[in-house]
Amino acid sequence: MYDLIIVGGGPAGLTAGIYAQRARLKVILLERELIGGQIALSDVIENYPGFPSISGMDLMAKFEEHARGLDLEIKIEGVESITTDGEIKVVKTTEGEYRTKAVIVATGAKPRPLGVPGEKEFTGKGVSYCATCDGPFFRNRVVVVIGGGDTAVKEAVYLSKIADKVYLVHRRDQLRAEKILQEKAINSDKIEILWSHVLLEITGEGGVDHAIIKNLKTEEVTTLDVHGAFIFVGINPTTNFVDVEKDEQRFIIANPKMETSVPGIFVAGDCRNTPLLQVSTAVGDGATAAFIAEDYIDNLE
Ligand code: NAP
Repeated sequence: MYDLIIVGGGPAGLTAGIYAQRARLKVILLERELIGGQIALSDVIENYPGFPSISGMDLMAKFEEHARGLDLEIKIEGVESITTDGEIKVVKTTEGEYRTKAVIVATGAKPRPLGVPGEKEFTGKGVSYCATCDGPFFRNRVVVVIGGGDTAVKEAVYLSKIADKVYLVHRRDQLRAEKILQEKAINSDKIEILWSHVLLEITGEGGVDHAIIKNLKTEEVTTLDVHGAFIFVGINPTTNFVDVEKDEQRFIIANPKMETSVPGIFVAGDCRNTPLLQVSTAVGDGATAAFIAEDYIDNLE
């Protein structure tokens, strides 16, 4: 029987673990695959205070080292469901079952597919959702990036250091990304931004050869010769295993104390319905969730 189970080992979960461990709770953190979460795949982070420039991998290694230094118990196990048995929460995993007084859901989000023909077929054969993972395969080649948010623009800039040319295809005539990222993309002589364009289809023989795009203003359809297509059109939260109130995109709804609609289930980080998804906000969520969970557990007893 645990006091607290933290589901997810990204910035939010690891922070919650650090706070819970310092509160001397009996806590375990369960992570399905990668300690550090999605941000560990980011080549450079330039907006986490105290670290003007650090790779996602290095920053998350520091978080993990901090948590393990406090003897936080961490297991690689996927959570399949969270149910309630009176005041007790039952966390079913790929390996078994845990009982706990409280749970913090910090499972983050995964890239959202675009849903165009060729995307599924060529995933892993030229279509990618992770520039740091797959970018190096495109040295001196031509790639297309889809999207206009922070991820798309940041990864286009990263890819421009490897590839010969990067097309950035965005459906509007204004980027959503941070201004500082926009400046980097606009000022790059390797990035060509194709404004008001959408990707219609990815085609090729055994791998990606072409991206077929349409200009939304003129309706003109063009074929780009590319070797890779990187899709960054938003994220889907990983929240299917827990039955709490969610918004229409399945982000978990919580109050400022990180309390969900089910007493004893808290949420933190990118899987929460929140206006800003950053490492710094995930850290704040994780700290708050652990602090409020501690109070909840104390009041049960
Ligand atoms: P996002 O901010 O939701 O941006 C998604 C982009 O994809 C938008 O430009 C959107 O266009 C476009 N898009 C969505 N659906 C599309 C479709 N069907 N066809 C064509 N384009 C489509 O997602 P994100 O960039 O993955 O970022 C997710 C969150 O993480 C955000 O809160 C972001 O700020 C944060 N993040 C921060 C950093 C950082 O370094 N600060 C880095 C990465 C991510 P519209 O603009 O027209 O809607």
